[in-house]
Amino acid sequence: MTLPLLQIRDLHIRFQKDGAQLDAISDLSLDIERGSTTVVLGESGSGKSLTAKAVMGLLPPGAEVVSGSVRFDGRELVGLADRELRRLRGDAIAMIFQDALTALNPVTPIGNQIAEVHRIHERISKREAWSRAVASLDAVRIPDAARRAKDYPFQFSGGMRQRAMIAMAITRNPDLLIADEPTTALDVTVQAQILELLDDLRAERNLALLLITHDIGVAAQSADNAVVMYAGRLAERGTIGEILDEPAHPYTSGLLGSVPGPEHRGRDLPTIQGAPPSLDDLPGGCAFHPRCALATDVCRDRLPARTDFTTTHTTWCHHAEEALDGQPAAATV
Ligand code: SF4
Repeated sequence: MTLPLLQIRDLHIRFQKDGAQLDAISDLSLDIERGSTTVVLGESGSGKSLTAKAVMGLLPPGAEVVSGSVRFDGRELVGLADRELRRLRGDAIAMIFQDALTALNPVTPIGNQIAEVHRIHERISKREAWSRAVASLDAVRIPDAARRAKDYPFQFSGGMRQRAMIAMAITRNPDLLIADEPTTALDVTVQAQILELLDDLRAERNLALLLITHDIGVAAQSADNAVVMYAGRLAERGTIGEILDEPAHPYTSGLLGSVPGPEHRGRDLPTIQGAPPSLDDLPGGCAFHPRCALATDVCRDRLPARTDFTTTHTTWCHHAEEALDGQPAAATV
């Protein structure tokens, strides 16, 4: 049996803040296969981006992995020396950030910025690095790539800048591409084009794609598998079909219920009542209980154990069967 390209096991990340220790990620386990797209869903503060940064070895100051494992292609990344991590970043694992305008250097031509990635990793001539940069811009379908490589970021539209960021990420042919909200700042048409491009690159290069988003529409369009996170823990995971068609966690149902559709025409859009908790004020038991219409005493007292519905579909909820049966889920307004 081949191992998943990325295997996260029981990951626990803690923040130090004002002398207190805050659990940002707890008991996170996740597998990502080569050539597949896994989407991580959840509101702001759920731990999606921090998970990605842990894989990249780019945790912010004050955060540390206190236990668990992140294995990439069979190699343990937790505790790996910075030098080794730097080598992996770009070469084997790459990341696209959500705001292409601030991620690109405004005073350097785009081609030079991509060429620089090669020269950091490899002793090659400027000419060779430049030609690889142009090839990468061509791969992300920038028209007339050789000429546009000389342009500065301000000369590119929002969608083109995001393509340039993708070109920079794939230019070293990584095996795993992490895209953190890659379409948030784009209009719907451009968003669809970027998702299509990412999917084409995944298929052409057998890339594993980890897509972080709060947008269910993005997930539905692109993913093979989905992971739903809440307050730094897994709420549910499954194939995208299982998550969209048979949600078995009230939080997932709440997220799905708040997607605008024709049935909401002329009516208020349902939303999940309340807001995600902050790390220094996590509710006891299931952290979702203050917002959940199915919450009972056991939810307030104890963390839910996992329930496996299929080999791929797992949820962490005391009342998973009722949630799956479509009982009123999140408290909505
Ligand atoms: Fe959490 Fe209980 Fe709601 Fe399940 S039913 S999501 S365990 S509060």
